[in-house]
Amino acid sequence: MELWFPKRVYVEPGALDYPLGKALYQRFRADRLPITMIPGHNRVLGVPGHTAREAYREGKETLVIGVKRTFELESCRPSADFQFPLVTGCPAYCQYCYLQSSLGRKPYVRIYANVDEILGAVGEKIKERAPHITSFEVASTSDPLAVEHLTGSLRQAIEFFGRQRYGLLRFVTKFTNVDGLLTADHSGHTRFRFSVNTPQVIAAFEHRTPPLDERIAAAKKVAAAGYPLGFLVAPLFIYDGWRRDYHTLLSRLAAELPEVPDLTFELIQFRFTRRSKDIILDRFPNTALDLDEGTRQVKHGKYGQAKFIYPDEEAEALRAYLSSEIQRFFPASRVLYFT
Ligand code: SF4
Repeated sequence: MELWFPKRVYVEPGALDYPLGKALYQRFRADRLPITMIPGHNRVLGVPGHTAREAYREGKETLVIGVKRTFELESCRPSADFQFPLVTGCPAYCQYCYLQSSLGRKPYVRIYANVDEILGAVGEKIKERAPHITSFEVASTSDPLAVEHLTGSLRQAIEFFGRQRYGLLRFVTKFTNVDGLLTADHSGHTRFRFSVNTPQVIAAFEHRTPPLDERIAAAKKVAAAGYPLGFLVAPLFIYDGWRRDYHTLLSRLAAELPEVPDLTFELIQFRFTRRSKDIILDRFPNTALDLDEGTRQVKHGKYGQAKFIYPDEEAEALRAYLSSEIQRFFPASRVLYFT
């Protein structure tokens, strides 16, 4: 799959004071991309797009070179103790993406130029909690590998964590441009997870992402480079033939990755909120996602919002089937959670 390249670029005040901001600016200027210097944080005006669909697509062609100004670290359960961003937004078009609700009508991709400052705040948190081991998720607001060919900041974070005695990093990706990370000095402190699903789900809902074969090939390279490896099987859907398809998925993974030490799985069922449902229907009016509230159970999230999830009996069928198939194909692996 071709690596993403923006159509237009916005630069926030102060971003050019950092080497990454300056290097990207010079590169995009040499490429004659339209570049707009914006007067303040979040003042990204003028991205084209009238309809919801156009606005979404044009947002996804837009890059903002920004500066992270607040360094409070939010908790990130059940995946890690804390999360921090290097990037927000993502060029892919996954219909179910939970970022749909948080990134606005034109969901541009913002990369942060002040990577050293962000990692400095992370380092302080690690120090404060030492000798307790503190884990950090860096893929809560984006798929950071999707823009790594532009930024290199994921590699920088991996090498930073490679030097941390009491810190662990984890991230998840659907992207496969892993070559630049294979030689990073990770010291086994970064868990590299791939988001996988059945080829049917990938084809129907995960537009502009690499196919399953490429993700498996990338996972093999990552395992060979000594990274702790994991798979996020998500979002899990119940549809005609779901057992057969998830069985085939796991048997393919087992055939390609027979002896991976310390392999982990995370299982996340599909969920939506009223707000995300409205946004999905605006952007993907012909979606095949099952957004029928009547067949779901309501669960209240961290901030009180109602999420529609599978009823207990169906969720349990997903959990039990996936867990037992994982146990069968990967007896030495761990399922970290089902949610
Ligand atoms: S790859 Fe991940 S972050 Fe990007 S659109 Fe898909 S689900 Fe969202």
